[in-house]
Amino acid sequence: MKQWIGVKAVALLLSGVAAAQTQPAPAAKVRDVDPQIAAAVRKVSAAQIEANIRKLAGFHNRNTISAADPASIARGRGIGAAREWIKSEFERYSQACGGCLEVKTDGFLQEPADRIPKPTEIVNVYAVLPGTDPENAKRVYLVTGHYDSRNSDTLNVVDEAPGANDDASGVAVSLECARVLSHYKFPATLIFMAVAGEEQGLNGSKHFAKWAKSQGMNIEGVLNNDIVGGNKTPGDSTQDATIVRVFSEGVPAAATEQEIRMLRALGGENDSPSRQLARYVREVGEKYLAKGFGPKLVFRRDRYLRGGDHTSFNEQGYAAVRFTEFREDYNHQHQTPRTENGIEYGDLPKFVDFQYVANVARLNLATLAALASAPAPPTKIKLLTKQLENDTTLAWEASPGGLATGYEVLYRATTEAEWPILGVENVGAATTATIKRSKDNVIFAVRAVDKKGHKSLPVVPSPER
Ligand SMILES: [Zn+2]
Repeated sequence: MKQWIGVKAVALLLSGVAAAQTQPAPAAKVRDVDPQIAAAVRKVSAAQIEANIRKLAGFHNRNTISAADPASIARGRGIGAAREWIKSEFERYSQACGGCLEVKTDGFLQEPADRIPKPTEIVNVYAVLPGTDPENAKRVYLVTGHYDSRNSDTLNVVDEAPGANDDASGVAVSLECARVLSHYKFPATLIFMAVAGEEQGLNGSKHFAKWAKSQGMNIEGVLNNDIVGGNKTPGDSTQDATIVRVFSEGVPAAATEQEIRMLRALGGENDSPSRQLARYVREVGEKYLAKGFGPKLVFRRDRYLRGGDHTSFNEQGYAAVRFTEFREDYNHQHQTPRTENGIEYGDLPKFVDFQYVANVARLNLATLAALASAPAPPTKIKLLTKQLENDTTLAWEASPGGLATGYEVLYRATTEAEWPILGVENVGAATTATIKRSKDNVIFAVRAVDKKGHKSLPVVPSPER
């Protein structure tokens, strides 16, 4: 913790913030802070994260098509050994909390495909922390990273592919959230996941997301961490250790033609469920993370020419966002370790900023805990458009699950990126509200709150004549 403050202080000085502001703001001053979540955030360990990233890098090559036979697993080489180790970590955390986690695998035989030359078993590993309330336990929040790696050649299973940043860092976030949050109880369900096949074509996450959809699993939010190592190349001063980017899709990948027509007509392209999730991450960051580190929202599904596992969930209609470090160093990802013309290539642990990964883990953990503590969002939110008027009437059905004690109507100008702190009206327990603002000028949303101030994801209404 001491070290962490030190790193932040340095980062703030670098970014030109006055020294007087480098003291972390006491979280308790912020409204509606849940002391249990604040305590959980403090338990995230950079040392634990470092140990996990070094362990994963130590399996030499975690390519999805690398060895997974018993002899290789015993030797600690290849993707099979990595998978068994991740599973054993989840099991160890579960033992430490009296068996509170259900450790599971989602394995399937991937037929030959682009970058998969022969039939290959792909296995996602995950741990479920079931919600304590039967009705609310049906709501699921999921954190994931991919444990497969690659070097310069996607099909190379021989040379080193340490994948410390891409994506042992993301797996370490998932593991650390599981380790810490398994000691707490929440009404809703959490899933901590590590998927494979990402580098070959998102195969693992696609399989799980499709399966979840076929089961009718109500996944309300997916946090995908991929390349969250805060790459620190010696001599590079352009990395920003105070920022993690959070990417979210605009028009949902799963939107129907009719839904897209509606988004076009009403200017709804900036208010997908994934984008509400991203805004929620920012609010949580302000509440639970010390000053000097936070999310930078990027309103784009992913980076140019790149993809990630969150998209597999988006395609099945789930809200999902991607966390990625501020500045990527392409010499230190998807590269076979080597030195050429004085440049060191390779995704090695020595380029990972473990304190940075710990901050990303804190943000993920606080978001998961806040969502799993909160009431379900209200449903069937309607914005009444029967007549032309300058006030706006909204109506909705109560938040299911019985946790909500009231509702808040949020609004912001159409040109504003995020829900402003001032644009909130507490409407009590009523399920209808008339707001003295024109629906033509602002974007509305409604969220449920409980008596401790936990807030659901906001939901944008649909118009009703
Ligand atoms: Zn990756």
